[in-house]
Amino acid sequence: MSIALQDRFVRDLPELAVRWQAEPAPEPRLLALNTVLAEDLGLDADWLRGPGLGVLLGTAVPDGAAPAAQAYAGHQFGGFVPRLGDGRALLLGELTDTAGRVRDLHLKGSGRTPFARGGDGLAAVGPMLREYVISEAMHALGVPTTRALAVVATGRPVYRETELPGAVLARVAASHLRVGTFQYAASTGDRALLTRLADHAIARHHPGATDAEHRYVALFDAVIAAQAQLVARWMLVGFVHGVMNTDNMTISGETIDYGPCAFMEAYDPETVYSSIDSWGRYAYGNQPSITLWNLARFAEALLPLFDEDLDEAIKLAEASLHAFQGHYDRAWATGMADKLGLPDVPRDVVSGLATEALTQLQQSQVDFTSFFRRLSRAARGDAEPVRGEFIDLAAFDDWLTRWRALEPAPDLMDRVNPVYIPRNHLVEEALTAANGGELGPFQALMDAVGSPFEERAGLDRYAEPGRKEFTASFRTFCGT
Ligand code: AMP
Ligand code: MG
Repeated sequence: MSIALQDRFVRDLPELAVRWQAEPAPEPRLLALNTVLAEDLGLDADWLRGPGLGVLLGTAVPDGAAPAAQAYAGHQFGGFVPRLGDGRALLLGELTDTAGRVRDLHLKGSGRTPFARGGDGLAAVGPMLREYVISEAMHALGVPTTRALAVVATGRPVYRETELPGAVLARVAASHLRVGTFQYAASTGDRALLTRLADHAIARHHPGATDAEHRYVALFDAVIAAQAQLVARWMLVGFVHGVMNTDNMTISGETIDYGPCAFMEAYDPETVYSSIDSWGRYAYGNQPSITLWNLARFAEALLPLFDEDLDEAIKLAEASLHAFQGHYDRAWATGMADKLGLPDVPRDVVSGLATEALTQLQQSQVDFTSFFRRLSRAARGDAEPVRGEFIDLAAFDDWLTRWRALEPAPDLMDRVNPVYIPRNHLVEEALTAANGGELGPFQALMDAVGSPFEERAGLDRYAEPGRKEFTASFRTFCGT
């Protein structure tokens, strides 16, 4: 067994790749392996656990592979940084999965690269297991995302505020092309490079654009649609990404770079968890407008491909950006219709009802996730659990009566509303135990969130929000 890795990105776009190798790992130890994903990729899990472990660390390079750090730029919290790139990550190469799809195999925490700036190039066990559990939970929830293949402890200490055990995450993505990749290519002023990048992105993610009258505008339109749908899905599951810089926004429409992300508990659009987001730029409720802002930065990078005449190019970009809101509203209302069990009710009625419910959730500080499961019980005739959450009962009863009159479908609701999400206190508990060498809580959490819609006996504590005091003071950290 080995892995057949291609070097498509490096060959197509050598200007955006620096051939590089991972740092050695003194004492590798496999902490988590996604055997189902390995199988989908046509990889043998036993081989990965044994002779193939080095591939998951980047210390063994399969024949024909050309590991590289990728160059990109990005707007970070609104300010443009012309050169970011993979400071502690490597693209090992592309592989074709058993469904025939091309996937990137990528490592995070594999050592310093020429893009490391002041960083040590390393990652700690906790944050890598965090990305593992949250990205896999997102996948189980049906949200497009990069996937986690494995976390391997390196045996190398990492120095943050304290000494922590180091690890490498092996992740899989449709690609690692970001808005920031285009910003980097555009900033070189090399139009041929930008064209090659756009053609690479079209071939890989949006082949429908190839035959369009204006293929680069069609690429832009496809990314707008994909990102509008993605952020709608985030909103529907209460996900707060936390660091929506343009270098963390993909062209494929997958969620990427799980740093300070977390799931909202009590519904509040101003929910922020990231310790570095003190202005709330990336708060839950801002995510759709930030997505649009990032897409406008993408448009700026693409302008030279839209038209030679700048005014004409800007007109095309604006016309495309205009479609974002409609894509988003449709995706959100369709998702809400399912969450409320009202798939056949006109979308404007659904949107109105959902917005009213959310206002009441906010007023009564109701847990967003469990509300919808309690609501399906109300559809089956047992309204007390959900009624018990509200302070203004008269207002909620009024809402409930109007909603029930539309004959909601509880079975549909239970298929789309999760019981189990990676709640902050459970993630922290699992990571703290893992830091002490105990992986049981991590595995138990993975089991719960891996089948989020299927309520199981004995998992009650995975369905409950954390204590309010815990949630109120909970902060997540970036770049750790
Ligand atoms: P992120 O916050 O993970 O999206 O990373 C933003 C940028 O910082 C990227 O260019 C990363 O490669 C880089 N970076 C983050 N942490 C480190 C680190 N420990 N060493 C080197 N580069 C890093
Ligand atoms: Mg990033």
